[in-house]
Amino acid sequence: MKLYGCWGKIAYVNLSEGTVKVIEIHENDIKLFLGGTGLGAKILYELVQNPGSLDPLSPENPLILLTGPLTGTPFPSSGRFGVVAKSPLTGIFGESTAGGFWGPELKFAGFDGIVVIGRAKEPVYITIFDDEVSIRKAEHLWGKDTLETEEIIRKDHGDSRIKVACIGKGGENLVRFASIICDGGRAAGRCGLGAIMGSKKLKAIAVRGTKKVEYAHEDKLNEHCRELLRKVAQSAYATNARKYGTAGYVLVGYKYGDVPIKYWAKGTWDEIDKISGQEMVRKGLVKKPQACFNCPIACGRYVEITSGPYAGVKGHGPEYETVASIGSLCLLSDIEAIAKANELCTRYGLDTISLGSVIAFAMECYEKGLIAASDLGGIRLEWGNAEAVLKLIDLIANREGIGDILALGVKEASKYIKSSEEFAIHVKGLEVPMHDPRAWDSLALQYATMPRGACHTALAYTIDRGVVINELGFTKEFVSKLNRFSHVGKPRIVKIMQDYMGVFDCLVICKFLIFAGVEPSEIARALTYTTGWEFSKDKLLEIGERVFNLKRVFNVACGISRKDDTLPKRLLTPLSNGGAKGHRPNIEAMIDEYYRLRGWDKEGRPTKEKLKELQLLDIVERKKT
Ligand code: SF4
Repeated sequence: MKLYGCWGKIAYVNLSEGTVKVIEIHENDIKLFLGGTGLGAKILYELVQNPGSLDPLSPENPLILLTGPLTGTPFPSSGRFGVVAKSPLTGIFGESTAGGFWGPELKFAGFDGIVVIGRAKEPVYITIFDDEVSIRKAEHLWGKDTLETEEIIRKDHGDSRIKVACIGKGGENLVRFASIICDGGRAAGRCGLGAIMGSKKLKAIAVRGTKKVEYAHEDKLNEHCRELLRKVAQSAYATNARKYGTAGYVLVGYKYGDVPIKYWAKGTWDEIDKISGQEMVRKGLVKKPQACFNCPIACGRYVEITSGPYAGVKGHGPEYETVASIGSLCLLSDIEAIAKANELCTRYGLDTISLGSVIAFAMECYEKGLIAASDLGGIRLEWGNAEAVLKLIDLIANREGIGDILALGVKEASKYIKSSEEFAIHVKGLEVPMHDPRAWDSLALQYATMPRGACHTALAYTIDRGVVINELGFTKEFVSKLNRFSHVGKPRIVKIMQDYMGVFDCLVICKFLIFAGVEPSEIARALTYTTGWEFSKDKLLEIGERVFNLKRVFNVACGISRKDDTLPKRLLTPLSNGGAKGHRPNIEAMIDEYYRLRGWDKEGRPTKEKLKELQLLDIVERKKT
């Protein structure tokens, strides 16, 4: 049957054998999982025989990169792609998405995605140029940073329009939180999926396409998207994000007690305004906003430093998560130093959330005398020491000295540093993003139960903050009555947002659209016009729930259960000051209700009935045989 909005085709590359196959995606799989990390979860589950025993850095771990049915369409902010594999950082389901232009370009090349399996003997890169998939030698690229790699590949092929997703030294050296970088600084950052590329000796995937996928109702799609683009562009959120970027949230979040300070130990910091988006603009650091494919919001920052110790920094600037993780978490208030650290993370291909966390963790170890300057090659790892931060980034990416241990991430590194496990802040091995769960009970439950570990992207806490999604029942009246410090009603909000935001990762579209007032039926309508199949708000939520449960099934097979659905001790200990002063989120009071709403048993396992209802039982049963 003819497909619309996607090709129904995935390139399957076996690097051990040096072979390329094209595999078809069944129409029913697109209807049930759409694409992105949803379809990726299904492919991963089916390809991995035994999730629990699979070594994430072994050739058998499939690396799956997927677009979605809306990728590259006129739908606003539809430039993302999803990456899925078993995470080398957490040992459970790993996923990440990235913006930019790489995803649409892959679609224009005639593929919905690519699955990479095996391990090459020597470094290679893959090219997908209009239907043609090739494995090419990459000795000349190995050791280059991500920006150089993009440059060289474009030059080698004489085409400046080639889009490149690649790794830097972080991925090559198997840093467990290595990212995949595209478009000069957009990152699939979380879960260390760049290290999987490194383990496969895969430096880059370069794509270039000139094909156009057909839409079922093109005129209606174009008209609908024109209206949506106008609505998004005119929203207050877009105006603000264009001006100040995501770091414009720093001062707002600080008032709530949402911005973590001194490795989650403090609630106030009198230098907070120095790392805000407003300060970046005031200092002239930001030269212009930057947008991903077809995005009227343009939350990205193009920064340039022309004088002082960090002169020469040029390109993608730090966004909110980065200014908080390298800034407030480490008490580093020099925004130019943060921009330099951000550039290093881009070039090395390191996830800035995990990177900032692991450095802040090391700073606390240093303060407590658990590691000494002599263990650090003489670095005085004091809070706020910019030089020490930049030096540590080098050591981590190159796996030298203490950097070799910190490259394992906070959880594993704490096993090597005596008495540090107690304050190693992570959930299921994933370092916690830059939103404090003591400021929102909904976020606490969300962190405790997300498939990849501590993950902020279900955005449940933003409902507590007043974000309205009318069609989900989160009306102005409803959100105005919410108490962010109360657990009452939060399991329901968290479940709905996890399911709904999961759909965004399937499609793969930018989640900031919810702040611009885009409602579920508007997304469903675009999907109907694109694919020709009928979608509705309820259908989307059902898909989100299906995907969420399949990820949980994978994690249960990796040994995850109720004991893991919690937060580290420090995040359950009230702060003595700041916007969340005195509050301890009540996870215990929420977890049973949450499991009940999910249709899971007391141990947090999806029941047979729930799997059947979600049309997952066959997939799970098939695996057992
Ligand atoms: S809002 Fe920002 S991250 Fe999202 S698509 Fe637009 S530019 Fe990219």
